[in-house]
Amino acid sequence: MTPLSKITSSPGFQMAIKKILTYPDPVLRQKVETVTRFDDSLRQLADDLIETMYAAPGVGLAANQVGECLRLVVIDTAAGNDEKKPLVLVNPEILEKEGCRIEEEGCLSVVDLTANVERCNKILVRAQDLEGNTLEFQAEEYFARVIQHELDHLNGTLFIDHLSALKRSLYKKRLKKILRQQEKG
Ligand SMILES: [Zn+2]
Repeated sequence: MTPLSKITSSPGFQMAIKKILTYPDPVLRQKVETVTRFDDSLRQLADDLIETMYAAPGVGLAANQVGECLRLVVIDTAAGNDEKKPLVLVNPEILEKEGCRIEEEGCLSVVDLTANVERCNKILVRAQDLEGNTLEFQAEEYFARVIQHELDHLNGTLFIDHLSALKRSLYKKRLKKILRQQEKG
Protein backbone atom coordinates (compact mmCIF):
# COMPACT_ATOMS: atom_id res chain seq x y z
CA MET A 1 0.00 0.00 0.00
CA THR A 2 1.26 3.51 -0.74
CA PRO A 3 1.51 6.22 1.92
CA LEU A 4 -1.33 8.65 1.34
CA SER A 5 0.84 11.73 1.52
CA LYS A 6 3.62 10.49 -0.74
CA ILE A 7 2.06 8.91 -3.80
CA THR A 8 4.57 9.25 -6.61
CA SER A 9 5.28 7.41 -9.81
CA SER A 10 7.86 4.70 -9.13
CA PRO A 11 11.43 5.17 -10.37
CA GLY A 12 13.55 2.27 -11.70
CA PHE A 13 15.02 0.01 -9.00
CA GLN A 14 18.28 -1.95 -8.77
CA MET A 15 20.33 -4.04 -6.29
CA ALA A 16 18.55 -5.81 -3.40
CA ILE A 17 15.56 -3.68 -4.17
CA LYS A 18 13.16 -5.88 -6.11
CA LYS A 19 11.01 -4.94 -9.04
CA ILE A 20 7.39 -4.47 -7.97
CA LEU A 21 4.93 -6.16 -10.30
CA THR A 22 2.01 -4.04 -11.37
CA TYR A 23 -1.56 -4.72 -12.45
CA PRO A 24 -2.49 -6.47 -14.76
CA ASP A 25 0.48 -8.82 -14.17
CA PRO A 26 -1.10 -12.30 -13.71
CA VAL A 27 1.43 -13.24 -10.98
CA LEU A 28 -0.47 -10.88 -8.65
CA ARG A 29 -3.46 -13.25 -8.97
CA GLN A 30 -1.59 -16.51 -8.41
CA LYS A 31 -2.08 -18.71 -5.37
CA VAL A 32 0.60 -18.21 -2.71
CA GLU A 33 2.10 -20.92 -0.51
CA THR A 34 2.18 -21.14 3.28
CA VAL A 35 5.70 -20.59 4.65
CA THR A 36 7.03 -23.80 6.23
CA ARG A 37 10.77 -23.13 6.29
CA PHE A 38 12.04 -20.39 8.57
CA ASP A 39 15.55 -20.18 7.16
CA ASP A 40 18.10 -17.67 5.85
CA SER A 41 16.43 -17.38 2.47
CA LEU A 42 13.17 -16.34 4.17
CA ARG A 43 15.07 -13.72 6.20
CA GLN A 44 16.80 -12.49 3.05
CA LEU A 45 13.47 -12.16 1.27
CA ALA A 46 11.99 -10.25 4.24
CA ASP A 47 15.00 -7.87 4.19
CA ASP A 48 14.60 -7.30 0.46
CA LEU A 49 10.89 -6.64 0.89
CA ILE A 50 11.56 -4.07 3.63
CA GLU A 51 14.17 -2.31 1.48
CA THR A 52 11.89 -2.37 -1.54
CA MET A 53 8.95 -1.04 0.48
CA TYR A 54 10.90 1.93 1.86
CA ALA A 55 12.50 2.72 -1.48
CA ALA A 56 9.16 2.82 -3.32
CA PRO A 57 8.11 4.47 -0.91
CA GLY A 58 5.34 2.33 0.53
CA VAL A 59 3.83 1.44 3.91
CA GLY A 60 3.26 -2.24 3.16
CA LEU A 61 4.37 -4.86 0.67
CA ALA A 62 3.39 -8.48 0.09
CA ALA A 63 5.92 -11.05 -1.18
CA ASN A 64 3.86 -11.86 -4.26
CA GLN A 65 4.10 -8.21 -5.35
CA VAL A 66 7.75 -8.95 -6.15
CA GLY A 67 6.93 -12.35 -7.66
CA GLU A 68 7.66 -14.50 -4.56
CA CYS A 69 4.48 -16.48 -4.00
CA LEU A 70 4.74 -16.98 -0.24
CA ARG A 71 2.49 -15.91 2.64
CA LEU A 72 4.77 -13.11 3.79
CA VAL A 73 4.12 -9.38 4.14
CA VAL A 74 6.07 -6.44 5.54
CA ILE A 75 4.41 -3.38 7.04
CA ASP A 76 5.77 -0.04 8.18
CA THR A 77 4.26 0.60 11.61
CA ALA A 78 5.79 4.07 12.01
CA ALA A 79 2.69 5.63 10.37
CA GLY A 80 4.27 8.68 8.83
CA ASN A 81 7.00 9.28 11.41
CA ASP A 82 10.58 9.44 10.16
CA GLU A 83 11.79 6.52 12.22
CA LYS A 84 11.38 3.23 10.36
CA LYS A 85 9.57 0.45 12.19
CA PRO A 86 9.11 -2.49 9.84
CA LEU A 87 6.97 -5.43 10.95
CA VAL A 88 7.32 -8.82 9.23
CA LEU A 89 4.24 -11.06 9.23
CA VAL A 90 4.62 -14.67 8.10
CA ASN A 91 1.45 -16.68 7.35
CA PRO A 92 -0.79 -13.87 8.64
CA GLU A 93 -4.53 -14.35 9.15
CA ILE A 94 -7.34 -12.23 10.53
CA LEU A 95 -9.18 -13.95 13.38
CA GLU A 96 -11.75 -11.29 14.24
CA LYS A 97 -13.09 -8.15 12.60
CA GLU A 98 -15.09 -5.24 13.99
CA GLY A 99 -16.67 -2.09 12.59
CA CYS A 100 -15.98 -0.60 9.21
CA ARG A 101 -14.66 2.58 7.74
CA ILE A 102 -14.16 4.03 4.28
CA GLU A 103 -10.82 5.68 3.52
CA GLU A 104 -8.63 6.42 0.56
CA GLU A 105 -6.04 3.82 -0.48
CA GLY A 106 -3.33 3.42 -3.04
CA CYS A 107 -1.18 0.44 -4.00
CA LEU A 108 2.38 0.05 -5.26
CA SER A 109 1.04 -2.51 -7.78
CA VAL A 110 -1.74 -0.28 -9.10
CA VAL A 111 -0.13 2.71 -10.76
CA ASP A 112 -1.67 6.15 -10.72
CA LEU A 113 -4.83 5.41 -8.74
CA THR A 114 -6.21 6.06 -5.29
CA ALA A 115 -9.77 5.29 -4.28
CA ASN A 116 -12.01 4.94 -1.26
CA VAL A 117 -12.19 1.40 0.11
CA GLU A 118 -14.24 0.01 2.99
CA ARG A 119 -12.21 -1.94 5.57
CA CYS A 120 -12.78 -3.23 9.07
CA ASN A 121 -11.73 -0.76 11.69
CA LYS A 122 -10.47 -3.18 14.32
CA ILE A 123 -8.96 -6.61 13.68
CA LEU A 124 -7.35 -9.43 15.62
CA VAL A 125 -4.34 -10.79 13.74
CA ARG A 126 -2.44 -14.02 14.11
CA ALA A 127 0.87 -14.50 12.29
CA GLN A 128 4.36 -15.89 12.76
CA ASP A 129 7.66 -14.04 13.00
CA LEU A 130 10.82 -14.97 11.08
CA GLU A 131 11.71 -17.57 13.73
CA GLY A 132 8.33 -19.24 13.43
CA ASN A 133 7.01 -17.93 16.77
CA THR A 134 3.29 -17.15 16.87
CA LEU A 135 2.25 -13.52 17.23
CA GLU A 136 -1.26 -12.42 18.09
CA PHE A 137 -2.20 -8.75 18.27
CA GLN A 138 -4.97 -6.24 17.73
CA ALA A 139 -4.74 -3.56 15.08
CA GLU A 140 -6.93 -0.52 14.64
CA GLU A 141 -7.73 2.15 12.09
CA TYR A 142 -4.86 2.93 9.69
CA PHE A 143 -2.68 0.02 10.85
CA ALA A 144 -5.65 -2.36 10.48
CA ARG A 145 -6.28 -0.99 6.99
CA VAL A 146 -2.69 -1.60 5.83
CA ILE A 147 -2.77 -5.18 7.17
CA GLN A 148 -6.08 -5.92 5.42
CA HIS A 149 -4.74 -4.44 2.18
CA GLU A 150 -1.59 -6.61 2.32
CA LEU A 151 -3.50 -9.78 3.27
CA ASP A 152 -5.74 -9.18 0.27
CA HIS A 153 -2.61 -9.39 -1.90
CA LEU A 154 -1.87 -12.87 -0.53
CA ASN A 155 -5.34 -13.92 -1.68
CA GLY A 156 -4.76 -12.47 -5.15
CA THR A 157 -7.04 -9.50 -4.47
CA LEU A 158 -6.16 -5.92 -5.35
CA PHE A 159 -7.82 -2.84 -3.90
CA ILE A 160 -9.41 -2.10 -7.29
CA ASP A 161 -11.43 -5.32 -6.86
CA HIS A 162 -13.30 -3.50 -4.07
CA LEU A 163 -14.39 -0.71 -6.45
CA SER A 164 -17.51 -0.62 -8.59
CA ALA A 165 -17.35 -2.23 -12.04
CA LEU A 166 -17.68 1.23 -13.59
CA LYS A 167 -14.76 2.72 -11.67
CA ARG A 168 -12.68 -0.34 -12.48
CA SER A 169 -13.38 -0.13 -16.20
CA LEU A 170 -12.58 3.59 -16.24
CA TYR A 171 -9.28 2.83 -14.58
CA LYS A 172 -8.49 0.06 -17.08
CA LYS A 173 -9.04 2.51 -19.93
CA ARG A 174 -6.82 5.11 -18.29
CA LEU A 175 -4.14 2.50 -17.59
CA LYS A 176 -4.08 1.42 -21.25
CA LYS A 177 -3.45 5.03 -22.19
CA ILE A 178 -0.65 5.35 -19.61
CA LEU A 179 0.99 2.13 -20.83
CA ARG A 180 0.76 3.30 -24.46
CA GLN A 181 2.44 6.59 -23.54
CA GLN A 182 5.20 4.69 -21.68
CA GLU A 183 5.85 2.57 -24.78
CA LYS A 184 6.19 5.67 -26.92
CA GLY A 185 8.40 7.50 -24.42
ZN1 LIG B 1 -1.08 -3.10 -2.53
